[in-house]
Amino acid sequence: MTNHNPQSIYLDYHATTPVDPRVLEAMMPCYKEVFGNPASSQHAHGQAANQLVETARGQVATLLGADPREIIFTSGATESINLALKGVLTAEENRSGHLITTEIEHKAVLDVAQHFERTGGQVTYVPLGLDGVLKPEQVLDAITSSTKLISLQYANNEIGTVQPLPEVAKICRERGILFHCDAAQALPYLDCRLATIGADLVSISSHKSYGPKGIGALFARRKQPRVRLEAQIEGGGQERGLRSGTLNVPGIVGLGKACELLTTECQADGVRISALRDRLLAHLEEKLPGLVLNGSRENRLPNNINVSLPGVSAAKWLAGLTTVSCSAGSACSNPSSGDGSYVVQGLGKFQSAITVEEARSRAQGSIRLGLGRFTTEEEIDLAQKDLVDTAIHLLSRSDSKDSSEEDCSI
Ligand SMILES: *Cc1c(COP(=O)(O)O)cnc(C)c1O
Repeated sequence: MTNHNPQSIYLDYHATTPVDPRVLEAMMPCYKEVFGNPASSQHAHGQAANQLVETARGQVATLLGADPREIIFTSGATESINLALKGVLTAEENRSGHLITTEIEHKAVLDVAQHFERTGGQVTYVPLGLDGVLKPEQVLDAITSSTKLISLQYANNEIGTVQPLPEVAKICRERGILFHCDAAQALPYLDCRLATIGADLVSISSHKSYGPKGIGALFARRKQPRVRLEAQIEGGGQERGLRSGTLNVPGIVGLGKACELLTTECQADGVRISALRDRLLAHLEEKLPGLVLNGSRENRLPNNINVSLPGVSAAKWLAGLTTVSCSAGSACSNPSSGDGSYVVQGLGKFQSAITVEEARSRAQGSIRLGLGRFTTEEEIDLAQKDLVDTAIHLLSRSDSKDSSEEDCSI
């Protein structure tokens, strides 16, 4: 089922993005002449590497409107999230505290939350509307005297739903509760400056923003308030003791360049891509009556489409495509359950507007299309034809309704 065809149209930018050629170019010297260890401050090779790292730190800080000293390089958003959440919650005074989050977070957040619960903490999952958007009043209602941290994604990786972070940040600030934001998906499109989102901790990932894989960063506020974190990886004391290990210089330089490009191009990218996205969605909705758009139509990343087509399982729809690389709503992390996307499933949960069956069927049928910087108009024209033809073919076959052998290996 794996598609090795490089001619295939890539519509899976939420899973990862290609490296921008300008990013790759910036990284190349790190594989050649600038190979020193940035911690070797006593000689020229180390100093040259360190200089590149500090330039990159500045580029990341500029995009976020942060102080460079507030940026900690990690191996990606998963590690940043672990450092942010565990870094706060493993402190003596927080261990039996309370964490607030939602059920549609990335697994990195959900798994840390579960671990926290098993080890004496308390977790509240704020209910979401059918459109996946959280209401700040619901966060307010969930707060208790022991709430230590609130963790929310800025934008969802499956349904692209954008959360009202500034309102939540204000609530947190007024009550002295720390606020972590998972901005992995938001970074290439939304205003992630701290002055806007107001978070105390922000996790970002390079490979979702046209940088290389295996590198990310955590912003941790230094003052008002100063966030205290317990290091999760100990050793040589790099990154001010918060993340030991020899720095991934090429990765850091790549992330820095990717952030620099976003600082100037993010807005124009979003405008162009949302026009393509809107065209693709309008076409699908016109040709496939009954198509359900999962998530909010308005509060949505400009590059995201997530749809379910009643009577068509996501697995079969994807398997039938000949020219498009895209994903089911989720990576099907629990194939045995066959429930499909936990994100789409999570939306119907607190609403009487939708039955459990309907929520399950949407979750099983959801496919995600993610556009990006290198998506062209021609690609969208070809993709929409493939998507529509495949769906119509499946609808015309009676066995297409049988979703009992849901195949999650795709
Ligand atoms: C991809 C992603 C992550 C994890 O990022 P990695 O750098 O791959 O570890 C976390 N949160 C969201 C919302 C993501 O999309």
